[in-house]
Amino acid sequence: MLALETVREFVLDRCPARTPVSVPVADALGLVTASEIVSAEAIPQFANTAMDGFAVRSADVVDAPCDLRVVETIAAGHAPQVTVGPGEASRIMTGATIPRGADAVVMVERTSLVNPDSTAADGPGSEDGAAEIVRVEVSVPPGNHVRPVGDDLHAGTHVFGVGTELTAGHLGVLCSLGMTEVEVFPRLRVGVLSTGDELVDDGSPLRPGQIRDSNRRTLLALAHRADVVPVDLGLSPDDPDEIEAAITTGVQTCDAIVTSGGVSMGDFDYVKAVLDRIGDMRWMQVAIKPAKPLAFGTVGDVPVFGLPGNPVSSMVSFELFARPGLRSMMGHPDPVRPPVTATAAEDLPRRADGKTHFMRVLATPSGGGVEVRSAGGQGSHMLWAMAKANALAVVPDGDGVRAGGSVDVLLLD
Ligand code: AMP
Ligand code: MG
Repeated sequence: MLALETVREFVLDRCPARTPVSVPVADALGLVTASEIVSAEAIPQFANTAMDGFAVRSADVVDAPCDLRVVETIAAGHAPQVTVGPGEASRIMTGATIPRGADAVVMVERTSLVNPDSTAADGPGSEDGAAEIVRVEVSVPPGNHVRPVGDDLHAGTHVFGVGTELTAGHLGVLCSLGMTEVEVFPRLRVGVLSTGDELVDDGSPLRPGQIRDSNRRTLLALAHRADVVPVDLGLSPDDPDEIEAAITTGVQTCDAIVTSGGVSMGDFDYVKAVLDRIGDMRWMQVAIKPAKPLAFGTVGDVPVFGLPGNPVSSMVSFELFARPGLRSMMGHPDPVRPPVTATAAEDLPRRADGKTHFMRVLATPSGGGVEVRSAGGQGSHMLWAMAKANALAVVPDGDGVRAGGSVDVLLLD
């Protein structure tokens, strides 16, 4: 048996990052930057108010309460027209430009109108009427509630480096900077194929010996969560010609392929034989449980992950090999999920067998850390417990972890 790390290195070596492309920011969620982002503009580009209120000269309100003449109303999106002189103020809405003359904002809650029926300065472009007077109840320092130019970031700032995974917040920053395209490693198309004579996927009554195909839906969903475009390659019986045809179609239309089933020691496990024939393939026994067998190779330059068929095994194998490989191809500098240290809230027993066990567990926050307990049945066919689990506990060879002991866990999405 091969060590997990050895096999993963072998896989990652064969999953180099793809050539960068420019994509619309709207399509870039989850992708990784391929060039540094430098701000061409400051954010904000003009000094503006953080509050609804009145723009004032701070020197005027040192002895508050005091009354000021309202000379203008400034809405967000409209340029101020009037300079605020001594004894004057402009009504101002959050995000609107600080007018010339003013150097501070008093929030509206700290003011009152002395002559609320006046018609002056009712809005942009309002006509003169009786002067509107505002009473400012507090003194404020210069710069009060003013967001200066470049408060968030200055022009010329190195905003995001190469290898940054673009999240919702990152996309917002790119939009704030006026960017419509971003240079990234391209999103992969990943084909998913189920293999097995026993599989049915149309909801029809099962004939003797048949089961329903669950892996394809699961693996397509895991691919989606890995920020690739999942491509359904369907279901193939245990027939080498049909498996070869499906994989060949996949290789022509996808950047990587994930198959399930047909990589064990059985008489009808043809996936590894087909991959051996049409690609450069390794068939490996990894010192882990579940998911010991793995067929991995390349057909042309398309990586193919031949995952085992047991439902939990296929998911664990995807997590340990396919996800890191796909992330590596998409330019992630750290494609492997880092473990966190947790405390076992109950015994996590196992037997020594030379393998690292990945136990399905429920991880919950506890006292500033994380604690884990079993999510249920640990058989590699027991998908229910896997579905309820939110983490895999990495239990090293031996007799398990006692309650209160520490254990590494992989927190799944
Ligand atoms: P195999 O890896 O082909 O030997 O399959 C191992 C086990 O996983 C067998 O019990 C299969 O019936 C089951 N299995 C294989 N493929 C699937 C699938 N797509 N969905 C659910 N179970 C599967
Ligand atoms: Mg099979």
